[in-house]
Amino acid sequence: MIMKHNFNAGPSILPQQAIDATIDALRDFNNSGLSIAEISHRSAGWDEAMDECSVLWKDLLSIPDGYEVLFLHGGASQQFLMAPYNLLQTRAAYLDTGVWATKAIEAARYYGEVQVIASGKDSNYSVIPEYAIPADVDYFHFTSNNTIFGTEILADPDSPVNMVSDMSSDILSRPVNVSRYAMIYGGAQKNAGTAGLAFVIIKKDILGKVSRDIPKFFDYRTHIKDKSMYNTPPVIPIFMMKETLKWLKGIGGVAEINRRNQAKADCLYGEIDRNPVFRGTAAVKNRSRMNVCFVLDEKYAGKENDFMELTKKYGITGIKGHRSVGGFRASLYNALPLTSVEVLVDCMKEFEKMV
Ligand SMILES: *Cc1c(COP(=O)(O)O)cnc(C)c1O
Repeated sequence: MIMKHNFNAGPSILPQQAIDATIDALRDFNNSGLSIAEISHRSAGWDEAMDECSVLWKDLLSIPDGYEVLFLHGGASQQFLMAPYNLLQTRAAYLDTGVWATKAIEAARYYGEVQVIASGKDSNYSVIPEYAIPADVDYFHFTSNNTIFGTEILADPDSPVNMVSDMSSDILSRPVNVSRYAMIYGGAQKNAGTAGLAFVIIKKDILGKVSRDIPKFFDYRTHIKDKSMYNTPPVIPIFMMKETLKWLKGIGGVAEINRRNQAKADCLYGEIDRNPVFRGTAAVKNRSRMNVCFVLDEKYAGKENDFMELTKKYGITGIKGHRSVGGFRASLYNALPLTSVEVLVDCMKEFEKMV
């Protein structure tokens, strides 16, 4: 097997320890003699696995009392609908910082008025626009990390109203002050595990305030009451999430991963800024630590494929930029080691000599 340096944007690199534990569970879950793919979620050992996953979330992010962690189907995209379904009575404020923010806005419009308080669209989302959160809305929604454009809001905003954040692509990459939020959600397939699952961290007392009838399945209270087992949960992705969180705890939790993520981002942005062949696309003050977007300087236009060819020689995979931005995107999620970033930097240095 060729060792790959996996810079995929999501689904993305996972800790080997989590993959190995899942392989073991696929052969034999909890010494039952049965594969995790074959068991009922009512089987012995499953409740404990689910509880452990929930406890790990609470522990890693110091989630205060009064919040619940849910594991739901449908990815982050379903949460674009479920959040306004449960929380939007009249009007909500949304910050438009990219493709995913736009999708969340489109979804919320089915349930009420959406006030887009600022948009980065004019800059092709290379900048997080200045914004002020109004006090007369049901909630404020923002995307903490813009996976496609490589910008990130690193500090928890201070909001006069309930704050909801899509943290799909930077959750667990740094400490978060959960008490500032009414809800944090995301798809699992970046830092928290594999696809097929969304995590939802929700403050219980914000629910039950809207006047519409909510079908049971789309009501967060149903999933709180049934501990995310109102219907059959995706046990394999949940197991993998648990093992991914266990790995994170084992290496020292979010404080340690925060340090490592900063070192990885410094290493790559340092090279982008030094190397005259490359140029970063996001505003320096808004640079994402998770998704590093860059292009070739105009002088080297047309040589993109040459660089892609060279990256293959280094075992680098997954750095082609999203089609809406072009160029390259290196995703530096939690499980990616600094050594992979150093290999990419070596490759960029060789390319500088070649062109
Ligand atoms: C990947 C991603 C999504 C989409 O997640 P799905 O689980 O595929 O619905 C939403 N928001 C952000 C910020 C993402 O990075």
